[in-house]
Amino acid sequence: ADLRGSQAKEEPMKKDTVQISSPDRLVYPEMQVSKQDVADYYERVMDWLLPGVAGRPLSVLRCPDGTQKACFFQKHHTAGMDVSTVSLQEEQGGRQDYLMVRDKTDVMQLVQFNSLEFHPWGALADSPDDCDRLVFDLDPSEQVSWATVKKAARQVRDLLEQLQLQSFVRTTGGKGLHVVAPLKPPVPWEDARQFARAFAESLAGAHPDTYIATASKKQRKGLIFVDYLRNGRGATSVCSYSLRARPGAAVATPLRWEELGRVKSSDAFHIRNLPQRLARLASDPWEEMTAIRQSLPDLPE
Ligand code: ATP
Ligand code: MN
Ligand code: MN
Repeated sequence: ADLRGSQAKEEPMKKDTVQISSPDRLVYPEMQVSKQDVADYYERVMDWLLPGVAGRPLSVLRCPDGTQKACFFQKHHTAGMDVSTVSLQEEQGGRQDYLMVRDKTDVMQLVQFNSLEFHPWGALADSPDDCDRLVFDLDPSEQVSWATVKKAARQVRDLLEQLQLQSFVRTTGGKGLHVVAPLKPPVPWEDARQFARAFAESLAGAHPDTYIATASKKQRKGLIFVDYLRNGRGATSVCSYSLRARPGAAVATPLRWEELGRVKSSDAFHIRNLPQRLARLASDPWEEMTAIRQSLPDLPE
């Protein structure tokens, strides 16, 4: 569905301006970026952000005293938040109201609550038990060059393509890249997890000098951890156009594969230059994703 189109019609139904308190408080002091600057950023990218995050269970990273003080992840609705929710069964325990955004007002309300990062599930709130987005989270250890990370992402793309899966790439605004493959119709999490794990292990098995598929930090030296653990019920990945709560105010940025070669680092796009990038783009680099119908292949033996 085209969220950009439908949004304008629905807006008058809700109170559509969120008052930003403490607008001058510095959130990224090293850049002189204030809470109002963060709010202005999210207003600016709203039509690009919403398609990747709306209608999904969501965790936010909140930094009430800026990025240089303590930040915390929040996944459940708490008192006073005038934000959409979805009631879901916990992985363990009972039902809980999870945060969700439906529209601009929800996003801005979360920004008012000092949310900087947006981390949706790879599932829609209507169908929380089924994965509609596989995420291969490439996590390079310190010794791995950016050129190697980019090469790895292309290799993941090529291997997925051999399995008839089209994929998309984004910078995370951190150190690595995410390679994302949509699944339509969505598949049960157990199948998604098994596939992602088998894929990661087969990659690491074939290229043990480049990849590792186990989470152990110790063994990762010089390698790229193919983090397949994003692919489970309740797991999240940062969404496209989310800011990162790290020095530099980098933005997780979706790219066209052809652009990847020119991108200088995972944090190349940030709060100051991302709006200029959008001004130059005719459409979102991931625009085609919504039109793709593709399924998981049978698992290799
Ligand atoms: P980088 O490129 O630096 O790895 P990243 O966003 O991929 O950036 P990861 O540490 O690999 O960071 O984490 C992948 C995803 O897992 C995050 O985007 C986030 O959604 C989720 N995640 C990681 N750590 C936590 C945490 N402590 N609590 C909740 N979710 C987390
Ligand atoms: Mn990562
Ligand atoms: Mn990771």
